[in-house]
Amino acid sequence: EPELVGDFGTLMTWADKHRRMKVRTNAETPADCQMARQFGAEGIGLCRTEHMFFDEARITAVRQMILADNEAGRREALTKLLPEQRQDFHKIFEVMTGLPVTIRLLDPPLHEFLPHGDAEFEEVAQASGYGVEHLRRRAAELHEFNPMLGHRGCRLGVTYPEIYEMQARAIFEAACDVAGQGEAIVPEIMVPLVGSKRELDILKDLIDRVAAEVFAEKGRTLDYIVGTMIELPRAALMAGEIAESGAFFSFGTNDLTQTTLGVSRDDSARFLAQYVEKGIYQRDPFVSLDIEGVGQLVSLAAERGRATRPDIKLGICGEHGGDPASIAFCETVGLDYVSASPYRVPIARLAAAQAALG
Ligand code: PEP
Ligand code: MG
Repeated sequence: EPELVGDFGTLMTWADKHRRMKVRTNAETPADCQMARQFGAEGIGLCRTEHMFFDEARITAVRQMILADNEAGRREALTKLLPEQRQDFHKIFEVMTGLPVTIRLLDPPLHEFLPHGDAEFEEVAQASGYGVEHLRRRAAELHEFNPMLGHRGCRLGVTYPEIYEMQARAIFEAACDVAGQGEAIVPEIMVPLVGSKRELDILKDLIDRVAAEVFAEKGRTLDYIVGTMIELPRAALMAGEIAESGAFFSFGTNDLTQTTLGVSRDDSARFLAQYVEKGIYQRDPFVSLDIEGVGQLVSLAAERGRATRPDIKLGICGEHGGDPASIAFCETVGLDYVSASPYRVPIARLAAAQAALG
């Protein structure tokens, strides 16, 4: 058991006395949630639901959904996915009882779900009734040259609302069931890659509608909040307006770094080392927040968000949430929490305490 015991455990308890920011974790499996809890995580800051879609048992249904060329086809595949998603969230809520759980709606680059090779296309053909030729044509249609700037994040929810409907239903059904066992659950539903208030409004309406449906079916209501990632420069600039619709912001500094610097988070390795060596970047900006540049957008968004909604909850869930220098910066901005991968939770607790004492 990875529990923090002995002198290290004591040190962590001391640190916690001085810490102002909460420390949450980025996790999507019950095992990771459990481990993070033992490391002292005080909730989930980011549950990336796209990771759940890669499960062997359901990837074919996911591919069927993506390749369907009409809503009825997508809904048929989503019907297969709903019980699985409900089970995913049920388990997570049970492990995290009493703690906040932020679930992010689907945000994959679509190409990651496309079938590769004959065998995979054959499987989707069998599951869906579409011919292999048709599926191949559809996959070619969905090809994107810049998937990270393409049809991902909330753009999927805007164009294929039935996907987010299924996820919202799974979240509320699971939350009602776990609440029925007497546990306190307040789901926080997070919309990814938002760039405008209108996108968030469209999706918040959808989430509220599904919540009302599920509560009527279950004969109970629950508190929940809807918020957004801030991971595009436009979202940071428009934060004042976006805060009218979102109860919380979580800074997605991986994408915010990529889009602010104009440097791919996937392909930058070739020149980044040289850039650090020559002092153009102080450190790898995907590891330690570029405080001068990206940091300005974080401060500005926090300020504008608070001006609209003084009690807006602010956190960070990019990789920087587990990096001590970035955590020190988050303290100066006054974020409410940082969210780090499970193994970085202890270091984040120490760094948050040091930042508060600093
Ligand atoms: C981010 O962009 O910082 C983020 C947390 O989302 P993801 O890494 O899943 O794109
Ligand atoms: Mg992101």
